[in-house]
Amino acid sequence: MRGCRAPSNRMRALVISDIHSNIDALDAVLAAGPPCDTVWNLGDLVGYGAAPNAVLQRCQEIGTVFVRGNHDRACSGLMEPENFNPIAFAAVQWTARQLTPEGLQWLAKLPQGPVDAAGTGVQCVHGAPLDEDEYILSAEDARAQLRATPAALTFFGHTHVQGGYALSAEDDCREIRPVYTERDGMESDELELRASWRYLINPGSVGQPRDRDWRAAFAVYDSDRQTVTFARTPYDVRMAQMRIQRAGLPDMLGSRLRVGR
Ligand code: ZN
Repeated sequence: MRGCRAPSNRMRALVISDIHSNIDALDAVLAAGPPCDTVWNLGDLVGYGAAPNAVLQRCQEIGTVFVRGNHDRACSGLMEPENFNPIAFAAVQWTARQLTPEGLQWLAKLPQGPVDAAGTGVQCVHGAPLDEDEYILSAEDARAQLRATPAALTFFGHTHVQGGYALSAEDDCREIRPVYTERDGMESDELELRASWRYLINPGSVGQPRDRDWRAAFAVYDSDRQTVTFARTPYDVRMAQMRIQRAGLPDMLGSRLRVGR
């Protein structure tokens, strides 16, 4: 994304989530994305990766709307990472030591979702509208959330899986998964939002995808055209792995990046 354009009646938002201290993936997304008027960041800026301060700085430069993630809370001391697995726990402890005092304070003040995205009526959450820590992993999970939320469009993260769910006025809940044809180049897939449907949309994870696609994930919302464009961009994954190795973080945090798991 190259700066912000003056909005006409049209508003385009770059939607990103789960960067997890991966500056190489974040910079690739910002270079690959189209010019946007605003950035909506769905949380988990830090944890797992090896560049927490660089990611925080970049997010502060570009970000408009923020929602806190569970790793943001754990790293900034708002929550005990009791239910984190040993690798995630080690990454939390390492990240908390690396962050500057200002960074820790800023992270601790990120708002809990749902956050109304700049008066657009679109809401942003980390996990789910009713519970910031819930994982929406099935159409049944999504249906319960969509029935209970008034917003026609909600962006969520947390699962690191790009796609989402749509609920019709007849209570038909469908899964949405973008379709891609290759594994290594830049690709995108556009979804047209229907007026009478309600949507939960996950832009995917920038810095640690878990949908078996190693490329950094993001989405672009166009308010005028009523579209969400899912996209994937390659990035310097070897550099991200090298940073993890140099930091002494668990090897698995590097190796999983190349397989997208
Ligand atoms: Zn996450």
